Amino acid sequence: MNEHTIKKTLSKLNIGGLRYFDSIGSTNDEALAWAADGAKDLSIVIADEQTQGRGRLNRKWFTPKGTALAFSLILRPSSTLRPHLSRTVGLAALSIAESFSKLGLAPLIKWPNDILLNNKKTAGILIETVWSGEDVDSLVIGMGINVYKASIPPADVLQFPATSLEDELAKEPPAREEILFSILEKFIQWRERMGTNEFITAWEETLAFRGQQVQIHAGGEAPITGELLGLESDGSLHLRDIHDKSIIVRFGDVSLRPAA
Ligand code: ADP
Repeated sequence: MNEHTIKKTLSKLNIGGLRYFDSIGSTNDEALAWAADGAKDLSIVIADEQTQGRGRLNRKWFTPKGTALAFSLILRPSSTLRPHLSRTVGLAALSIAESFSKLGLAPLIKWPNDILLNNKKTAGILIETVWSGEDVDSLVIGMGINVYKASIPPADVLQFPATSLEDELAKEPPAREEILFSILEKFIQWRERMGTNEFITAWEETLAFRGQQVQIHAGGEAPITGELLGLESDGSLHLRDIHDKSIIVRFGDVSLRPAA
């Protein structure tokens, strides 16, 4: 993977711009700076290695050299999409999931921001916002996909099991440029329909643990346990607790786990 092969593979898509790095701290940091500096919609920062890749709450995201697909997409929301911005994490998750399905795999979304294969984390999403006063100027969507086995962090740093496309396909995965193309193609298609019920249905049908008991951990609070029912129209998660009470979980730094 290099700048030339990426540009060639993406030439049929209408992307805003591309910055490629052999090694970088975090693609999201570079994209946030570029967005604040006027990057066009659908501009991409991509790196072969991240030395300071981030998850949520300053957790680390591992991207060893040559093993993963790590990129950040800059979005400048149009006025028609602005009312639906809370669905953006679903847009990213569904695009990654559908690109995995095209490879013959069976991905599920661990709400809100991880994609599982075989119940193991294969990709993660980190969304950050550039504000202009009280308005959203742009969004940066960081995506990290474990392509080769060597992208998987050591087990002792994992809070949730992890896998890679190479492990799950049990053969050589497609070139990273091809995987990127496939994700972006889905992303561009779904973004047009992001405000529709069809979008929420597709997202909901891809959720992991539907109909099962899950636990939601948020900061130091006691975890919430309930049956995972589905999504609200803003992308919040709908659970039902043992007293038959509805619980709506909004985004934020919450972590979902199957209940023991
Ligand atoms: P979660 O969604 O599980 O709460 P985050 O979105 O914050 O987690 O992602 C960061 C966490 O993901 C890290 O603490 C680490 O356990 C795990 N992790 C880091 N790099 C990878 C990777 N390449 N593949 C799978 N899991 C990873």
